[in-house]
Amino acid sequence: MEKFDWIIKNGRVIDPSQALDKVTNIGLAKGKIAAIGDIEGGSEADQIYDATGHIVTPGLVDLHIHGYEHVTPLGIDVDHYCLGRGVTTAIDAGSAGCDTFDGFRHFAAERSQTRLLAFLHISRAGLAFSSRTGGDDPGELETLKLVHTRDCIDCIESNRDLLVGVKIRLSSSIANDGRNEVEAYKRAREAAGAVELPLMTHHNFSFIPLEDCPGAMERGDIYTHCFHAYPNTIIDPVSNTLFDSIVAARDAGVLFDIGHGMGSFSWPVAELCAQQGFWPDTISTDIHSLNRDGPVYDLPTVMSRMLKVGMPLVEIIRASTINPAKAIGWDDRIGTLDIGRDADISVLALDSVTLQLEDCHAQLRSLESQLIPKAVWRAGNRGQITSPKKLPDCDTYQTAIDWQSKLIIRD
Ligand SMILES: [Zn+2]
Repeated sequence: MEKFDWIIKNGRVIDPSQALDKVTNIGLAKGKIAAIGDIEGGSEADQIYDATGHIVTPGLVDLHIHGYEHVTPLGIDVDHYCLGRGVTTAIDAGSAGCDTFDGFRHFAAERSQTRLLAFLHISRAGLAFSSRTGGDDPGELETLKLVHTRDCIDCIESNRDLLVGVKIRLSSSIANDGRNEVEAYKRAREAAGAVELPLMTHHNFSFIPLEDCPGAMERGDIYTHCFHAYPNTIIDPVSNTLFDSIVAARDAGVLFDIGHGMGSFSWPVAELCAQQGFWPDTISTDIHSLNRDGPVYDLPTVMSRMLKVGMPLVEIIRASTINPAKAIGWDDRIGTLDIGRDADISVLALDSVTLQLEDCHAQLRSLESQLIPKAVWRAGNRGQITSPKKLPDCDTYQTAIDWQSKLIIRD
């Protein structure tokens, strides 16, 4: 008789990686997924979780977060805001550069129960003294002395267990008023090409045109913040349709990632994309210290926004599990409920609600349904679920309103 540590029973198991969507049971043993299906009869389990009425998915994968807490201004407590909300793997988007990565390994990655991976920033300081772009904050590309291709490559080669790509932020405000953008972008592409890993670009308030970013990106590279409404938005504000260069980039295999953040999710941009059948390849939060209590809150809240926009539930789960896993080349390890993989599992409720939910600019939509995390396992160990302090939190709207004047597309 097979012995399980946990049986998660009677949930609606949705695993897009194996085209699975049915009410069934999952057995966990020794930290791995041991069985899926009719496993109750004759088996004994140490513990049973009754998931009746809930959705059971592969542990969620958030492709864009900031988890270098206490060292970078944007860092958050990863286990509270990621694992606590059903995210079993979080990928830090460039909080560390080659000079600060060792600390990231010891103080962040090794101390979190959440599996924490990272894109290495092309700037050797990462985001040690940087936060928002597009305003007055100083940034990581103020001098090209910070941008060293060879050292970035060497750091990645020595840390391939944790590093999954290269990150650059292209905004003139953090690059000596734009003077360093073109050269830094070139060096970032060189580094990513040399290590054969994806480059993730942040692109707003930049002098680099869409024809070059995402236009010059390679197949498999990741264009994050794809739903922002600032200068460099992917929607032509005259025709309200996607720019040709965006359609061409998707056809060429560039991946489009939400990276919600403090300024990069606009209801109207997401809705205009939906009207054209343009769904994001990956759904990520860009959760950090300035948006964790709104407007981001957590990954299930960002997924709920995509439900409102009309993205099918199974596609939302695909874009939050196997798609980000594939984007970083980890689909042989995470993002799936395949037998034998680490038992990373999320349980979500799909609740009927009446909720006025903001985007990054305090523009509101009425949500009728909301995904809410209920339980999570990371490598077979049950994690602690946490909740937003207040959702929605109108106290966070003022900054959003202050930035409305910078928008190109708005309600
Ligand atoms: Zn970010």
